[in-house]
Amino acid sequence: MIPLLIFILGACFGSFLNVCIYRIPKKLSIFTPRSFCVNCKTPIKPWENIPFISYILLRGKCSTCKAKISPRYFIVELLTAIIYLLVFRRFGFGLPLMTYLFFSSLLIIITFIDLEHQLILNKITHSGIILGLLASFLLPNLSLFQSLLGGLMGGLVIYFLHLLSLLLFRKVGMGGGDLKLAILLGVFLGWKNLLLSLLIASFTGGIVGSILIFLRIKKRTDYIPYGPYLCLGAMVVLLWGEDIISWYKGWLFG
Ligand SMILES: [Zn+2]
Repeated sequence: MIPLLIFILGACFGSFLNVCIYRIPKKLSIFTPRSFCVNCKTPIKPWENIPFISYILLRGKCSTCKAKISPRYFIVELLTAIIYLLVFRRFGFGLPLMTYLFFSSLLIIITFIDLEHQLILNKITHSGIILGLLASFLLPNLSLFQSLLGGLMGGLVIYFLHLLSLLLFRKVGMGGGDLKLAILLGVFLGWKNLLLSLLIASFTGGIVGSILIFLRIKKRTDYIPYGPYLCLGAMVVLLWGEDIISWYKGWLFG
């Protein structure tokens, strides 16, 4: 019963994250006015605002103007619901749960804004870094020192990769937004988990990037958003980091 409630809670928060993803880059308030159709501006009726169900019943179209509603609304609701459930199963009730639900929500907002606008907003990373440092007081296995060290490590690694890219390829690889995102991940995860998540991010980014270039969906010179991979790496480490490390140790030392 409780997992189901967490799943529904996640779907409702996902609905709110959709509002954030649409409004924050446009500098609109995330609280007022009520949700509206982005095409005809008609306010959305309460029955049209039920996660998943409304999207399916409306067949992905606005009931007034019939404009197509982006599938992103459905995807974010479902993804948030699943992630909330996984975070709950990993941490159970308590302060870490609250902290990491907040952290995962931030990652979802950052990912989808980066995918749509190729932007990682300072407004989000700056406040996230401060909240991450404060969150270390709520987490039993992350001290303020480890949190600071994680942020420092995140910044240094991305800055080093940036210099390397300039030197080897003479182009800007990772930008300032990626750097601040890595600091944000570091303050929430600590330096060890941060390094693991950067490894996972470059691994998955490399594979997906190669597939996209191979299928000619993207060109070698196209802009690559790193934000979503960094967020994915952080999420994987948050949920399964300990399993990955113990599996790796077992594999290494037999
Ligand atoms: Zn409409």
